[in-house]
Amino acid sequence: MAKLRIAGITRESVTDGPGIRLVVYTQGCPHRCEGCHNPETWDVSGGYEIDSEKILELIANNPLLAGLTVSGGEPFLQEKNLLELVLKVADLGRNTVIYTGYTFEELMKISEKKPEVLEILQTADYLVDGRFLQDLKNLKLPFRGSSNQRFIDLKKTFSQKQIVECQWE
Ligand code: SF4
Repeated sequence: MAKLRIAGITRESVTDGPGIRLVVYTQGCPHRCEGCHNPETWDVSGGYEIDSEKILELIANNPLLAGLTVSGGEPFLQEKNLLELVLKVADLGRNTVIYTGYTFEELMKISEKKPEVLEILQTADYLVDGRFLQDLKNLKLPFRGSSNQRFIDLKKTFSQKQIVECQWE
């Protein structure tokens, strides 16, 4: 079973996507956004390793959870293990939100060399994309830190072949 290097887990959150969610903070981030709330996640050798199976158990054993949110750090640094986790969460019938410092377009470019990235995007449900930009910080935005970031509905984006953003207000 795959292992992920993570900074920590929040078992029940209502601020990281729709419904009550288990949040996994991945370890390692190259983006270095000014004003980042989790700079302790930047060091790729920090944090600790956890079996994906343990994360799945926490989700399966809590019927209140709508799904999993993978935050950071930068989750796409661990694309192979992230794919395995996201596939198994889908098997459980729960949804997945992924926060990333890359834009959707950058990830599509990266996926030309790393096909797992495309598989993740086609399996997960939502993507919150783009670096946190201090100048565009807005505390009123649901589930996002700055207004450049988009809360993307991945299923609709692939079926409609254009980026479809969720409107949560
Ligand atoms: S992408 Fe997220 S975790 Fe990484 S530096 Fe930016 S705000 Fe921090």
